[in-house]
Amino acid sequence: MHPKVMQHLKFNRWYERQLFSGFAWLVSCLLCGFLFAAIVEYIAKHSSGIFTLISLVVLYGIGIGCIELFRRFWIQLSFAQYCANSATCSDCGSYGLFEVRKDTWPIYARCQKCDHRWVIGQD
Ligand SMILES: [Zn+2]
Repeated sequence: MHPKVMQHLKFNRWYERQLFSGFAWLVSCLLCGFLFAAIVEYIAKHSSGIFTLISLVVLYGIGIGCIELFRRFWIQLSFAQYCANSATCSDCGSYGLFEVRKDTWPIYARCQKCDHRWVIGQD
């Protein structure tokens, strides 16, 4: 029978997906920030002993989460940027004319114009 066919994506499509998931992290980070602000606002109006303490613990968790989400956004964005910078064929100068095998690293690129091969992410 046929071996399982790996899913390939055009580099541009792949790059868009990287950016999209990066911005999904950013949006989550912003929502987390709004939640943080909303709780601070709530505590300021309804402060009472043990409740305030619990809220502060929750705020701590949300704060950490917010930083983590931003970190993921930043890593994803830098990664996509790094790949985009290495996506030009050094032989013929074509940009992004290759397919990317989903979820593999490094990326083995083969120019569809001149058949030049290179690897992205191997230093
Ligand atoms: Zn080329």
